[in-house]
Amino acid sequence: AGLTKNELKALVDKYMIDTYERFDMIAETAKDMYIYDENGEGYLDFYAGVAVNSTGNCNEKVVAAVEDQLKDIMHTFNYPYTIPQALLAEKVCTAIGMDKVFFQNTGTESNEAMIKMARKYGVEKYGPHKYNIVTAFDGFHGRTYGSMSATGQPDNGCQIGFKPMVPGFTYAKFNDLEDFKAAVTDNTIAIMIEPVQGEGGVHPATMEFMKGLREFCDEKGLLLLLDEIQTGWCRTGAVMSFMNYGIKPDIVSMAKALGGGMPIGAICASAEVAKSFTLGSHGTTFGGHPVSCAAALAAVSELLDNNLAENAKKMGAYFKKKLTALPHVKEVRGQGLLVGVEFDNHVNAIEVKHEAFARKLLITAIGSNVVRMVPPLILTEADCNQAFDILYECVTAI
Ligand code: PLP
Repeated sequence: AGLTKNELKALVDKYMIDTYERFDMIAETAKDMYIYDENGEGYLDFYAGVAVNSTGNCNEKVVAAVEDQLKDIMHTFNYPYTIPQALLAEKVCTAIGMDKVFFQNTGTESNEAMIKMARKYGVEKYGPHKYNIVTAFDGFHGRTYGSMSATGQPDNGCQIGFKPMVPGFTYAKFNDLEDFKAAVTDNTIAIMIEPVQGEGGVHPATMEFMKGLREFCDEKGLLLLLDEIQTGWCRTGAVMSFMNYGIKPDIVSMAKALGGGMPIGAICASAEVAKSFTLGSHGTTFGGHPVSCAAALAAVSELLDNNLAENAKKMGAYFKKKLTALPHVKEVRGQGLLVGVEFDNHVNAIEVKHEAFARKLLITAIGSNVVRMVPPLILTEADCNQAFDILYECVTAI
C-alpha cells in the first residue's frame, strides 16, 4: 500500500524472522507465466512458487472458485460436511486410482500423516516393534520433526541444529535396491521415498529401483510410501509420478500443485491401510478447508481437462533437449517439467540464478552446481526458447 521497496525491506528486517534468500523484487501481481514487480515489469516464472502454480499464476478458474466459495462459507472445521471437500475427495481418489484421502494443509504435514498412518498400521497389525521406516539419503520430506527425521540428510541439511531427531528412521542409498534391502530389519514397516529427489538435486528413481522396491515390499509385507509433494499432479508427465513406473504405493502424500496456489495437502491410501486412522486418531483444524478444497477442485479439473500432464511430458522433453546445448553443462535430468541442470565446476548455479534474475527469469538453485526449473505446466515452446536464450546469456556472462 504505497510502500517503496526499501521501506518494505526495512519492515522485513526489523520485524520478520527472515530465513529466506529473497529475490530483490516485490511480487505485486501475477498472471499465467509471469510475476510482475513494483514497476509492473514481468518476470518469466520458471519456479512457480516452488512447483505450486502448475495451472499458471492466478488461474482464472481457480480464482473464481475461491471467490465463489468465500461468499458461501470460509471455515467451519470438520464437524459438518462441506460440499467442496467431498467432491474433491472423489475427484482425487478417482484421478489417481487410490481408495481413500485425508486432507491436510501443507506438504510436511501430509508426510507426518503418512508416517503416522504407516506406524499405526504396523504396530496394530504386527506388534509394538514394527515402526521403523527406511528412507533415502539426500531425500527431502519437510521441516517438521517427523518429516525432518525422515529426511536423509543427517549431517548436511535441514537437521543441523535441531537434533535429536524422532527415532525409528534408517537411511539407505537412493536408486540402490540392495542397500534398501539391507537396511530393512524385523522392525521395519515401510519404505518411503520421493519418485524424483527434488531438493536433493533432481534425481529420478530408475525404473528398476522403483519396481524393485514395490516387489520387495510386497514380498516382505512392507508398505511403500511415496512423497509426491513435488512430483504429483501432472508435473512429471503423468498425473502422479508413480504412474510413470506402472506401480501403486500403499500411501502417497501430495500438496503444492493440488491447491492451484492455495495451501492444501493430502494423503491417499489403500482402503486396508487407511483403516488404521479411526475416530479421533488424527485431526487438523484447517485441513480440508472449504476454500482450499474449492481451489483444489478447480485446479485439478484444469490439470486434467487440459491434459497438462501430456504438456509437461512434451515440453519437458523439448526443454531438456535444448538445455544440453548450454555451455558447461554436465548433465540435464528430470521427469516431465521437473528439470535440473548440473553444471561443471566453471559455473556456479547460484550465480546463474542471480544472472537470470537480472534478466527477468526466475529459477532456483540447489547447492552450488544444480539449477532447478519447475515452471507452470501451461508453458509453450516459445517460453522454453525464451528461458533457454536467457540462460545461455547468463552462463556466457559468468
Ligand atoms: N516433500 C517434498 C518432496 C518437497 O519437495 C517439499 C517441499 O519442497 C516438502 C515435502 C515439504 O512441503 P511443504 O513445504 O509444503 O511443507
